Amino acid sequence: MRSALRGERDADVPCDGCTACCTSSQFVHIGPDETDTLAHIPAELLFPAPRLPRGHVLMGYDERGHCPMLVDGRCSIYEHRPRTCRTYDCRVFAAAGIEPDDDDKVLIRDRVRRWRFTFAGEADRAEQAAIAARAAATAGTAGTAGTPATNATGRAVAAVSDQAEAAPRGAEPPATPPSSSSTAPST
Ligand code: SF4
Repeated sequence: MRSALRGERDADVPCDGCTACCTSSQFVHIGPDETDTLAHIPAELLFPAPRLPRGHVLMGYDERGHCPMLVDGRCSIYEHRPRTCRTYDCRVFAAAGIEPDDDDKVLIRDRVRRWRFTFAGEADRAEQAAIAARAAATAGTAGTAGTPATNATGRAVAAVSDQAEAAPRGAEPPATPPSSSSTAPST
């Protein structure tokens, strides 16, 4: 999870057909280096990203809050999807013990509520508790370690990342939350 949050690898979320993050009125950031992605998205769907250097763009959503690249319930450019999509991991909210705070993200919230983690041992359980405590401590405040945490997403990402910096557990943190595994939500 942490390496995905850093943009170093794709997230390994077992989405199991869930498209909540594609249907929750989210702007998708695409960087100027993502030439393959940009080649697969019509230019008219993109606009300059505010407060970012030239070349950074955003893709919006339709009147239903759906990404325009979502066709028949599937990503039509999956192999070429933006880095934002490749690295998105809704389990970060569950790991931090908080929920998306945007009314447009009800589907993501519902998904987050159904995640269940299993812990390999007490150390993993304690790490998750430490992450949740970090997230709770940033409610309504600026983030820690210089990371803006003014919304739930920022707070959750900061809590997971800051805990890793404070208590590194090896060269490469586990790809899943601080547990031995996470299980797909029951439906
Ligand atoms: S580009 Fe694909 S993965 Fe990303 S939000 Fe759109 S449909 Fe979902």
